[in-house]
Amino acid sequence: MNPIGFNPFSKHTDKGGEKKPESKVKTEIKPTIVQIFFPDRNRTLSYYNDRFDLRVGDIVFVDGKLEGLRGRVTAISTHFKVKVEDYKRVVGVADTHVVGQFFQAGAHLITFDPLVLPWKQFCSWVKPSQEDETEYYISYDEDGFPLDDFSGLKVTEVVAERGLDYYRENRVRYLCLDGVQGRAIVEGTKPYEVEFQCRDGQISNLFCDCPCGYTCKHEVAVLLQLRETLEIIEKNYAAQWDSYFAIVSKPMFYTFAVDANPKAVLSLS
Ligand SMILES: [Zn+2]
Repeated sequence: MNPIGFNPFSKHTDKGGEKKPESKVKTEIKPTIVQIFFPDRNRTLSYYNDRFDLRVGDIVFVDGKLEGLRGRVTAISTHFKVKVEDYKRVVGVADTHVVGQFFQAGAHLITFDPLVLPWKQFCSWVKPSQEDETEYYISYDEDGFPLDDFSGLKVTEVVAERGLDYYRENRVRYLCLDGVQGRAIVEGTKPYEVEFQCRDGQISNLFCDCPCGYTCKHEVAVLLQLRETLEIIEKNYAAQWDSYFAIVSKPMFYTFAVDANPKAVLSLS
């Protein structure tokens, strides 16, 4: 299968490894009023921003009524006199700078370079970075079950079926496996984080941050996606896979890494 070189800034295919720019959050940002278009609502609204160095085209998150929805910056004003308390604010911006090499993997693209699209960067595409770290109580257990036999996964038939639907609808937007530690983002009504460990085909410590509290459809979808991806790797990319891979759904990749960068060059070689 053909590799896909991706570089938003030049025509030269880069093999990745380029240092990523620092986060856009800076201490001294000139306040701006930004116009943001929300495709899901087909509305453009004004927001106050004093946290991010924004450009037209950036994908952002805001607080207020449209919290959680992705918006795109359409205009930025630096000259204004407003009552700041009248405005809701920009609370997150997607880091869409992606350089590196991807390969085809079904409805996803796959990379074997940990620097190309790391977990934290992908998370910035689906939600604002959390400053107040939510506290979780995690009860670890070491008893696993094999990935090729889900009977060890105690789920009801309804949950299993809904998980299968989510998997078929490619709702697993991102999944990475770094050594034995796996993480994924599944988009249902909102994005949920699933984590697990995969050791020699054995799955353990499977968790989702949705409110379920028991094995949920997001976890089932992630395991099905993991199974598919490992099969694709074994068949096509056994030589490339060392101890890390990440997959990203194609529509997400095109929306964030390509559309957000008008000069993006995607090359098949
Ligand atoms: Zn869940």
